[in-house]
Amino acid sequence: MSASQSNGSAGLATRLTHAGRTPSSFHGFVNPPVAHASTVLFPDTATMLSGKQTYHYARRGNPTTDALEEAIAELEGAAGAKLASCGLNAVALALLSCLSSGDHLLITDSAYGPTRHLADTTLKRLGIEIDYYDPAIGAGIAALMKPNTKAVMTEAPGSLTFEMQDIPAIAEAAHAAGALVVMDNTWATPCYFQAIAHGVDLSIQAGTKYIVGHSDAMLGTVAASPRAWEALDATAGALGIHVGPDDVFLGLRGLRTMHVRLRQHMEAGLEIARWLQTREEVARVRHPALPEDPGHALWRRDFCGASGLFAFDFRDDVTFEQSCAFLDALRLFGLGYSWGGFESLAIPVRLKGMRTATPMPEGGPSIRLHIGLEDVTDIRADLEAGFKALTG
Ligand SMILES: *Cc1c(COP(=O)(O)O)cnc(C)c1O
Repeated sequence: MSASQSNGSAGLATRLTHAGRTPSSFHGFVNPPVAHASTVLFPDTATMLSGKQTYHYARRGNPTTDALEEAIAELEGAAGAKLASCGLNAVALALLSCLSSGDHLLITDSAYGPTRHLADTTLKRLGIEIDYYDPAIGAGIAALMKPNTKAVMTEAPGSLTFEMQDIPAIAEAAHAAGALVVMDNTWATPCYFQAIAHGVDLSIQAGTKYIVGHSDAMLGTVAASPRAWEALDATAGALGIHVGPDDVFLGLRGLRTMHVRLRQHMEAGLEIARWLQTREEVARVRHPALPEDPGHALWRRDFCGASGLFAFDFRDDVTFEQSCAFLDALRLFGLGYSWGGFESLAIPVRLKGMRTATPMPEGGPSIRLHIGLEDVTDIRADLEAGFKALTG
């Protein structure tokens, strides 16, 4: 129940405002109702047995979930989309929809940690062969394709190390070998990277981040290209993945302002990133929208914006303990996992032991920042206090 009904060639902001809404179906109310529902009643047995009634049981969808699935499908330029209970659940749904026992899966070495954990535990147990590859591999992925390779998992930029990937080149090689391309596109969102138009078959969003946008609910979405849609829909149905209507409502509400929030996250994030580049304590800022970043050319070619998440590495004479003192001195930045909400967050990043396919050069300790919607001068002042704490 989520095949895309496209608003044609309307601009992004217009589509974010209107996608998945049909007020005339709900007495003119601007937003669809929040359907708290399980059972759906039928007028008679003939209708019940015909299978023709729009809704028959809420596990398979209701007007609230349909509205968000239609909106996501439209924004992603997809054949259809399914919701999941969180981002990791969306990763699991996407991978289970295209992999069977005996199949081979290639995963970027820069993948989100829990995605690796899923692959190394549950997917391995189900008899799926896993290999990790260098995120910078590009068209070279062709050499890693085996006769049983059914999917290539990508993520750009990686959410801790921020390396870009050449998605069109990877997609071309994967498709030539008969494999699907799966992408975790949470960082850019469909606002700043149109994954499916660049060759991706299953585009994943941790909706917990920018779609919900207010750190008050968890959600995941998977949008599919025409060749991946039928299996995605069938797998979501078979697994019984369902999201509660209040969380779906928060996703719909967040979606309407996502482009406006993203623009502010991008601008403030870049301002802070450029300022960090001038600090003598900082060796490197990991942000693909900076011209000095190794992924900048790919970002410029394929993406049309950046979100507010990036990292920086201290000089290598800064100790891990000092980087913790930096974090403990922050007052505005929360110390917590996740990102994409309205507030600034920071975490320490342990680069050591993160990679299995490619070595990770070791420098000073790394910190990941999510730049929220606070005033940039206050954000900078908070980080300045952190730098002061380095020297005690
Ligand atoms: C947070 C995150 C996820 C997982 O989302 P949850 O909703 O926390 O399960 C997946 N991928 C990336 C890149 C993330 O940052």
